[in-house]
Amino acid sequence: MIIGVPQEIKNNEFRVGLTPGNVSGLCKQGHTVLIQRGAGEQIGLTDESYRIAGASLIDSAAEIFHKAQMIVKVKEPQAQECAMLREDQILFTYLHLAPDPKQTKALMHSGAACIAYETVTAMNGALPLLAPMSEVAGRMSIQAAASHLEKTHGGLGVLMAGVPGVAPAKIVILGCGVVGRNALQMAVGLGAEVCIFDRDIDRLRQIDMLYGNRVRTFYSDNLLIEQEVCEADVVIGAVLLPGGAAPKLVTYEMVKGMKAGSVVVDVAIDQGGCFETSRPTTHADPTFLVDGVLHYCVANMPGAVARTSTFALTNATYPFVEALANQGVMKALSIDHHLRNGLSVYKGVLTSIPVAQAQGLDF
Ligand code: NAD
Repeated sequence: MIIGVPQEIKNNEFRVGLTPGNVSGLCKQGHTVLIQRGAGEQIGLTDESYRIAGASLIDSAAEIFHKAQMIVKVKEPQAQECAMLREDQILFTYLHLAPDPKQTKALMHSGAACIAYETVTAMNGALPLLAPMSEVAGRMSIQAAASHLEKTHGGLGVLMAGVPGVAPAKIVILGCGVVGRNALQMAVGLGAEVCIFDRDIDRLRQIDMLYGNRVRTFYSDNLLIEQEVCEADVVIGAVLLPGGAAPKLVTYEMVKGMKAGSVVVDVAIDQGGCFETSRPTTHADPTFLVDGVLHYCVANMPGAVARTSTFALTNATYPFVEALANQGVMKALSIDHHLRNGLSVYKGVLTSIPVAQAQGLDF
């Protein structure tokens, strides 16, 4: 199969869909890999390293989209990329279609088989291609919060850890999945006072077993959320309804009740966000204020640590790339129902029920 990896074009996105190691593995199995020249240069994955691994270096994304049978990317395709997709192609990347009817229509119009990393499943109901980026974003969310709590970055002027004689920051984490647990680990490590919400009691039990009284756990209840959010210095949004739009757990009224200079990090922004006041931002301009509360809503947080993220992501995606390349899309999807769960658009038809529901479409 001819596999194409264009350079990412989203704002400040430096991750790459395949590493030189992946390219070498695919080429050894008889596949052809086309990499856009310069795709990995910014993160130390040089054109030369891809060439040595067996890739053909291609000057333009247009040529890659023209020649490849499968496009492997990182972020959802931008409008000009959707316009280059064809009916006989596979697109394998993050899509985040639920809050994005425009992209959904463009992918349906292309006729391509579009498989979303974020809805591929594993045995235990886990989301193995979302998990590595959620680990990165969860850990980063606390770094971002700590930095934005500083006065010079628009925050209240609070040191997350406190010092002897001065209390640490109060952090509320909404969602106890991969993002939430990684945020929790960092927040506890920095010495913050933390509580975490979920509606999955088993997940709260695990936190209780691990951290004991060091962390307060709460069943996700509107009144309790309001109470904790109003007292918080930092609120991390980390909930997910797989494939669907994030539930709005924090209303505008609750945000109005928060301290001026407190910080909201809505990691769930890629699924529409769990704060009523959120809107997507970029690494170039990551924050905005709502009633004095600083909102950090970067939709591609792992892009900032693109080298770590590229390896973490491709460690998880590569076995599926190999399966699609070796077996073709029909066979790979029919053999592996976990991969099939990632199929979102096929030959012009929207195949994801949560996306259809989120967009109010008949299914
Ligand atoms: P996950 O499935 O591991 O965890 C989500 C958790 O939310 C689950 O424990 C679930 O029970 C909980 N939840 C669902 N509804 C809830 C509710 N009403 N109240 C409380 N908890 C609720 O998901 P994850 O991997 O942790 O991802 C979380 C979000 O972060 C997703 O939207 C994901 O796409 C996003 N994400 C964003 C970035 C970024 O750069 N902004 C990066 C990675 C992941």
